[in-house]
Amino acid sequence: MKSKTILLLAFVMSASLAQAASVREDICTQGKFVAGVKFDSPPFGYVDENGETVGFDVDIVKEIHKDLIAICKKDIKLELKQVTSKNRIEFVQNGAVDLAAASATATFARMDSVDFSNVYFLDGQRLLVKSGSTIKSIKDLDGKKVGTAQGSTSEANIKIAAPKATVQSFAQYTDAFVALQQGRVDAVTTDSTILLGLKASAPDTSDYKLVGNYFSSEPYGIMLKQNDSKWRNFVNESLSRMGTDGKYKAIFKKWFGKGTKFNLPDPKTSQNIPGEFPVRR
Ligand code: GLU
Repeated sequence: MKSKTILLLAFVMSASLAQAASVREDICTQGKFVAGVKFDSPPFGYVDENGETVGFDVDIVKEIHKDLIAICKKDIKLELKQVTSKNRIEFVQNGAVDLAAASATATFARMDSVDFSNVYFLDGQRLLVKSGSTIKSIKDLDGKKVGTAQGSTSEANIKIAAPKATVQSFAQYTDAFVALQQGRVDAVTTDSTILLGLKASAPDTSDYKLVGNYFSSEPYGIMLKQNDSKWRNFVNESLSRMGTDGKYKAIFKKWFGKGTKFNLPDPKTSQNIPGEFPVRR
């Protein structure tokens, strides 16, 4: 009887030890890194005219992939899997993706469900309207229809900032933008850079304009499974490496620099963030 109990205990212990393996180790063992990225949030993650998944977040993921190849000391396959604002937390929790680099704001509420990397981009929420619109700020939204994405902070923020507006939440930001183009909503709201991305994807970009001040603060972090410090520290070290070897600045310049479709008026703040990450070992 006693030996049976010991055997059972040993089994339970080895099972829990097996579960405790870090995502980082699993990636090395399996030789595959599955990264959750957006397909609907230009310029962070979207499908370009050649059908390729590209964007700022995609390039960050590709850098993490390089560091994985180095630490695993073998070739690692990279799979880019679509996540949306609504399903990204669930996908990270259930292991459908190893991480989500998906324009996600690091909030304490979300930290009840997932962990975040260090902050790697800063933005804030604004409005996108048709050029002829009389909407100039959130004050003009009473009785108006505003489109955004399900499960986003944008959805929660706009309900508080404009309580008399009707909020219509779509599965994807691209759907919200189509609704604006077709006149089914009067405005689209989310982080300003995604709004710039949607505007830039229009056949005639001058048909749309961003209006009003920022009415929220959106610091982006990469979503990771909770309580896996080996994996989280690895991702943070990778971000730190990008911050010090010039890669982050190069990626930033590629997507938001002068002359790009998504040029940011004042990129200084975001660009300097990785410099504040912990130093590499
Ligand atoms: N950054 C905001 C969020 O995490 C809005 C953009 C998005 O939905 O990805 O909810």
